[in-house]
Amino acid sequence: MATALSMPTKVDTVPDAYGTALAQYDRAVSHLDIPNDIIEYMRYPRREFTVNFPVRRDNGEVEMFTGYRVHHSTVLGPSKGGLRYSLHVDINEVRALAMWMTWKCSLMNLPFGGAKGGVIVDPSTLSLGELERLTRRYASELIPIISPQSDIPAPDMGTTPQMMAWMMDTYSMTMGYSVPAIVTGKPIHIGGSQGRTVATGRGVIICMMEALKRHGISNAENTRVIVQGFGNVGSNAALYAQEMGFKVVGVSDVAGGIYNPDGLDVEAVYAYSRETGSVCDYPNAENVTNTELLVLPCDVLIPAAMEGQLTAKNADDIHARFIVEGANGPTTPEADDILNDRGVVIVPDILANAGGVVVSYFEWVQDLQSFFWEEEEIFRQLQRVMIRGYDVTVRTAEEYGVDLRTAAQLAAIKRVADAIKTRGFYP
Ligand code: NAD
Repeated sequence: MATALSMPTKVDTVPDAYGTALAQYDRAVSHLDIPNDIIEYMRYPRREFTVNFPVRRDNGEVEMFTGYRVHHSTVLGPSKGGLRYSLHVDINEVRALAMWMTWKCSLMNLPFGGAKGGVIVDPSTLSLGELERLTRRYASELIPIISPQSDIPAPDMGTTPQMMAWMMDTYSMTMGYSVPAIVTGKPIHIGGSQGRTVATGRGVIICMMEALKRHGISNAENTRVIVQGFGNVGSNAALYAQEMGFKVVGVSDVAGGIYNPDGLDVEAVYAYSRETGSVCDYPNAENVTNTELLVLPCDVLIPAAMEGQLTAKNADDIHARFIVEGANGPTTPEADDILNDRGVVIVPDILANAGGVVVSYFEWVQDLQSFFWEEEEIFRQLQRVMIRGYDVTVRTAEEYGVDLRTAAQLAAIKRVADAIKTRGFYP
C-alpha cells in the first residue's frame, strides 16, 4: 500500500525577497505625492492561495506538496505572473515576485495586474511522468482562482513550455473545451506565440544596448558580458548578446560557472550544456564558482538566476559598470546603495526582464483573437515596448533625481495609484 512521505523541505539560503520588495516600495513612494490610504492599499497582496496536494511517485508512493498563488493587484487588469518550481519557494518569495509583477506590467503599460505562483519542489528530482502529475494536480487546485479573464500563469524558474501545455490541457479538460489563453509560454503549436521562449533574454539585451548607447559605448566587440544563470533567461540573453556582437566572457548555472577572457562561443556552450546538463567543465574555459563569477572582470553583469545574488558582501568587488537584471530581485537594497554610490548603472529587473511578460501579453491577445502574428512582428513590437519602458524610466529618473530602479518603480506605482484613485475604494 502507498505510504505518505514527508514534504520536500524549503531551502533557506537567499536574502528575504519580500523584505527587498517592501524596502524598494517604501523608497519609491517616499518621492510620490499620493494619499496614505492608497500607499497602504498597494503594500498588500490582494489574495493569497495555499494548496497542499498529493502526487503519486513512480514507485507507487504518494508524496504531499505545497504550492502557492498570490494575486498582488488586479487594478489594471487580470493578474499575470509565472509559476516557479524550486526548493526556495515560500509564501514571502511568492508575495515579493507578485508585487514586482504588478510594477513590471504597469511600467510596460500592459493591461495586467501582478501575480506569482510556485511549488516547493526540486523539479530535477522528478521524472517526466511525476512532473506531469504534479503540474496537472497543481493546475486543478488553482482552477478556482485562474482564468483568461482573471489570472494568467506563465513559466518561471524550474517550469517549461511543456508544463504550460499540461496546465492548459488540465484547465481545458475541466471546462470541456480548449482554452489556450489560460496560460502563456505554451508551445507554439497549441496556441503559444512566436518569440516567447527567447523574449525575456532578448529584452534584457535590448535594455543592455540602450544603457550602453546612452552612456556613449558603441563598440560591442570590446564590451565584455558575464551572465549568471543559463536557463531560459540567461542562455537566451547570452545567445542574443553574442548575436549582437558582444563578447560573452563568463556564464554559470546552479552547478558553477565558466570563464574565458577572450570570449566564449555561446552556441557551443549552449549545445554542451544541453548535452551534459551543465556549463561546467566546458573545454576552452576555466571553471569558476558562482561567487567568483560575479566579481570577475567584465563591463556588463547580467544576473539571470535568482534573487539576492548581489549583496552588501560582494557589491564592492563587482567590476561591471553596468548591471542588467535578468532575474527578479537579484540585488538587495544594501547592495543597491553601494553600487549606486560607486556609479554602477543598474537597469532594474522590472524593466530589464519585462520582455517575457510583454510577449506573454502578445500571446494572450493572439489566443483571445485566434489570430497569430509573425515572429518579425513580435520582435518589432517587443523592441518598441522595451524602448518605451526604458524611456519612461530615464525620464522619471531625471524628473525626480533618482536612480533607475527607484524611477522604474515610481513610474509603475504612480500608474497603479492613479487607477485606484479613479476607480475608488469598493464599496
Ligand atoms: P530557469 O529555471 O530556466 O533557469 C534558471 C537558471 O539559474 C538555471 O541555469 C539554473 O541552473 C540557475 N541557477 C539556479 N540557482 C542558481 C544559483 N543559486 N546560482 C547560480 N545559478 C543558479 O529559470 P528562468 O526562467 O531563466 O528564470 C531565471 C530568473 O529570471 C528568475 O529570477 C525568474 O524569476 C526571472 N524571470 C524569468 C522570466 C521568464 O520568462 N522565464 C521572465 C522574467 C524574469
